[in-house]
This record gives sequence, C-alpha cells and structure tokens, in this order.
Amino acid sequence: MPLAPLYGHEELRKRLGDRARAGTLPASILLHGPRGVGKQRLGLWLAQILQCTSDSPPCGECQACRYSLSLAHPDLRWYFPRPRLKDADPALEDVRDDYMEAIQERLAAGGLYEPPSGSEGIYVATVRAIVQEAAMSPAMGSRKVFVIGDAERMVPQEGAEQAANAFLKLLEEPLADTTFILTSSEPGQLLPTIRSRTVSVRVPRISDDAMQAFLADPRVREAFKASEESDADRLTVAAGAPGRLFGGEARSAAMMAARKLMDAATSGAPAPLHAAALGVGITGARGAFTETLDSLLLLLGERMRASLHDRNAHGAAAASRAASLVERAREQARGNVNPQLITSRLLRDIAGILT
Ligand SMILES: [Zn+2]
Repeated sequence: MPLAPLYGHEELRKRLGDRARAGTLPASILLHGPRGVGKQRLGLWLAQILQCTSDSPPCGECQACRYSLSLAHPDLRWYFPRPRLKDADPALEDVRDDYMEAIQERLAAGGLYEPPSGSEGIYVATVRAIVQEAAMSPAMGSRKVFVIGDAERMVPQEGAEQAANAFLKLLEEPLADTTFILTSSEPGQLLPTIRSRTVSVRVPRISDDAMQAFLADPRVREAFKASEESDADRLTVAAGAPGRLFGGEARSAAMMAARKLMDAATSGAPAPLHAAALGVGITGARGAFTETLDSLLLLLGERMRASLHDRNAHGAAAASRAASLVERAREQARGNVNPQLITSRLLRDIAGILT
C-alpha cells in the first residue's frame, strides 16, 4: 500500500517546499509541534522533493518519487524509536534489518502508525548506523536525506559518547550532500546539543477541512472499518492532529486518566482530589502525563462547547479559564516539576473554577 498523502500544512508546504526546490533548505532541521500532526510525514514529503528529478517536485511520477513514496529510495533513510535489540552490541546489519522490517510494517498500514511506547528509543546502535550511512555517497540521487522521528528519544548512553559526538558533528557541520530532518513533539526533552544545532520549524495542527479529507482517505477508512467511533468523535479526539487517532492503548489510558481528573475536579470534595493526584504519580512517564493533560484539554473544550450550546456563558468562560490553567501545567510539565505536585495544584485550582 502506498503511503497516505500529507494532509494540511499548506502554508508550511509552500514555505519549506519553495526552499527545498531552490536548494536553500537548512541542512539540519527540527520539525516540532503537537504529537500526531504529521511531522514525520511532512519530513518524508520534503525528502521526496529533495529526491525528485522532475522540473516541478514533487511530481509523484518520476522514479525517485515512486521510490520515495514506497519508502524504497536508497538515499531516503527513515529512523524512529524502536525496541532495544536483544544483542547489547548489535551489528549494523541487524539494525538495518530491524528498521527495514519496521518500515515495511508502517508502509503496510499506509503510513498510519501508533506513537512509540515508553521503552522504544533511538539507541546507540542506530546512531552508529546513521553516522555510517551519512559517510557514504548517495546511491541513486545526488543527496541523502535522513528523517529522524521522535528525536528526543535519542538518549545519551554510557560508552556511546563517540557515536553521539560523531552525530552532533554531522548536524553542526553537515556534509554538502546530506539533509537531516528531525522531528519532536517534546522539544523540551531534546538534548540541548541537538536543539542548538538544528533550525527549528513549528508544525501546527491541521484545519478541520484537512482533517475531513484525511478521514475520507481510503487507508484511513480501512484502518477504522471495525471501529464504531463516528467521524465527529474522531474530529474531536484528533483536534487537528490526525496521528492522535492511532494512539491505541496509550490514547485511551490518557483519556481515562483525564476523565478521572475531571470527575475529581467537579466532585467538590477534597478527598478525591488527593486520590486523583496520587493516581497521576503512578503513571510515571512524563510523556504519559503530558498526554493526560492534552486529553484534559479536549474534555474542557467539549465542556466549553456544551456550555455555549446551552447558552451558559458563565460555564463556557469557566471552562476556558480552566483550560488556560491546564495549558500552564503543560508548560510546567516540560520542566522538572513533579507531575503529582502539578496535578494537585491544578486540580485545586480548576475545582475552584468549575464548582
Ligand atoms: Zn518526482
């Protein structure tokens, strides 16, 4: 199955596409923005432009385009978090085989995939493979393009300093024939040495029109054929980030945690407030916590729309104020503040507003 096309991002496509066509795209780019808005797909689209051999890239017709769209172009390398290989020091061949398999899986699903689980990462063996491939000449085109998704999962490891430094050097002093496109939905978690060596581009949520077009895509229809969720519900859940629809268990866990917090905040009793805040501490991972806050924002958005529908201006204003507190907590969660502490304060404050 070919990759589902890139939906939305018209303005960015114009801006970045023009630069790619003119040959003035920065050599090391960081695409950052909410999870699921299509940053890796945008990266692959840019890579396709850089590889296309026609006069109006991406033509979608030339051999380079066809190879890019089927993720078979030898000079288009896509890396993203993977489970750690059993062998502690795997051969580069094993790393390549692992990615080839993972990419075939993503391709088989039309390029629609779930976010990485907590234990998946971009481990040192992968960084070594990237460094080695970057040193080789392009095999088919005139340029190698690396798309590295969820780059904040590139973690420093003991004994891996050499590979990490070699990668940083590549970002800083890029080879003339190499482009690096990194993506991250948690740019605050990126190694500062990576952030400072890349040109940041913010990728926004896509419009409702683009979301509707995405939902009508045959690959998307196929992916949801067994689901009872309506397109209207999907629009709410996605909130302009189509990839959120493929969150699987993580998405429903975050939504359940958010509903618990919401119930606690609107119950008016202090005891549940405390219990719910403790519940957040157990989930541990910072990514899961941010995901919960995002789901809470969706619930508050629903509450706001419901209030407006009932002509309850006071209720709508309260939900909107609560949402801005959640936004603030989300900012704090990027730093080093303890999620439990953030949650107990947040719950106390939004309970004061909503009850
Ligand atoms: Zn082409």
